[in-house]
Amino acid sequence: MAYYNNKKEPVEEIETTVWSCTSDSCSGWMREDYSFETEPTCPLCHAEMTKETRVLPKLS
Ligand SMILES: [Zn+2]
Repeated sequence: MAYYNNKKEPVEEIETTVWSCTSDSCSGWMREDYSFETEPTCPLCHAEMTKETRVLPKLS
């Protein structure tokens, strides 16, 4: 997932609520909209997850 200075296909980015893994050694995260549990665990390491806001490409 790389973005270049290419204006041909601008990607609209919006602030998105995501669940982020609390483990320092893990970069797991998921979009809140894609999680079906109120307090999901990390799909990679099964640690607790915490909500945070990231700027992500808008889903069509
Ligand atoms: Zn994790």
